Amino acid sequence: MMNLNSPLFDKVRSKPVAEEVRPAVDPICEHPGCKHKGEFRAPKGRDHEGQFHLFCLDHVREYNQSYNYFAGMTDSAVQSYQKDALTGHRPTWAAGVTGGLGPESKLDAATLLRARLERLRKAREAAQREGQRKIIGKMALKALDTLGLDETADRQAIRRRFKELAKRLHPDLNEGDRSREDKLRAIIDAYNYLKSAGLA
Ligand SMILES: [Zn+2]
Repeated sequence: MMNLNSPLFDKVRSKPVAEEVRPAVDPICEHPGCKHKGEFRAPKGRDHEGQFHLFCLDHVREYNQSYNYFAGMTDSAVQSYQKDALTGHRPTWAAGVTGGLGPESKLDAATLLRARLERLRKAREAAQREGQRKIIGKMALKALDTLGLDETADRQAIRRRFKELAKRLHPDLNEGDRSREDKLRAIIDAYNYLKSAGLA
């Protein structure tokens, strides 16, 4: 076991994170002509994930006010981005968009990002559809199995089999046979499911 009370860990814990990223020399505000200390970080923007400008307080405020991360993006791209950010996809596309861009394609970075967000959105929708199809498929297979059929059964075959079984298992013909009542209920459920899934 590691001793978490060891002085070594105290040292690690108490080390300020900022100390590691702060340059050796105090930076100057990056605003042209400003000579104040650049004490405040401001994100460089969409195509420079993880990069920051350093400004004095006045200029970081000015920068933040004019800074619009989503400038030039369509509403749907913004929504996709926000969804991606929520679901944690952001680093993936950020790396993909910024990676491998030649100098001449820099102007098109926003276009590429929009295209990538669009592809992500479509992929997500397709995955959703695929997921739904599988769930329906699985339950449909189970329902078909209840009717003694398999996935090759078409609409007519399903209806025919249902009528056949319903007639055979009908309480009037079976004088209170519980197991047959249960079976009939299962058959009706299965048939109703297949109908709701558009298969019967
Ligand atoms: Zn400044």
